[in-house]
Amino acid sequence: MRGKPSRYPRNRSERPQRAQERKIEEQKDAVESPENMSERGFVMPGDLIGTSEEFTPAEGTYEEGGEIFASATGRVSVNLNSRAISITSRTKTPPRLSLGDVVIGRVSDVKSSMVLVEMAHIKGKGEREFVSPGDAVIHVSNIKDSYVKDILTEFQPFDIVKAKVIDVRNTRLSTLGEEFGVMKAFCTKCRGVLRKTENSSLKCSNCDRVETRKISSDYGTGII
Ligand code: ZN
Repeated sequence: MRGKPSRYPRNRSERPQRAQERKIEEQKDAVESPENMSERGFVMPGDLIGTSEEFTPAEGTYEEGGEIFASATGRVSVNLNSRAISITSRTKTPPRLSLGDVVIGRVSDVKSSMVLVEMAHIKGKGEREFVSPGDAVIHVSNIKDSYVKDILTEFQPFDIVKAKVIDVRNTRLSTLGEEFGVMKAFCTKCRGVLRKTENSSLKCSNCDRVETRKISSDYGTGII
């Protein structure tokens, strides 16, 4: 009985204080970057974020032919002292991979019977960034419905792909079906962006080289 009357006032006085603390926390989050960091826009894997003359590639980026691209989804940060450019993930708890999830990633390697994919994010899970549990695998039998003679006619390193999770434990993906496959690809000769032609092959916007891929029906739309 004793404690009862004091409970309300105590709670009431705590409430505004907590709200205040939360506000301070939020403000801290907003100015999280150290003074020597400059934050830029939000990027997707494969987006050009700078040149190696301007910046040093760091976490979440890769360099190709003097240009630096995002390999992760997030915000671009530049260390103004070292000129290191990186992609900062804002998600504190990374989303977990589930069976049937659609993921976006970048081809990190192509082997004789499989494609390795560095996953960047899970579609539709709200979170835009994702800490990958390691490279995912697309086995040659899960690339498309028809027989694949040479895997390099379907995927090349640096391609951005959309795939479906078919095995969580072994991080296996599939690109069977129209929706799945390469979303964005680069010329293997000059690294120019490949554009889809009327007959669904891909043509380099820079050197006119023609290449093929297992493309997604969303190829080149930027909708990933
Ligand atoms: Zn080219």
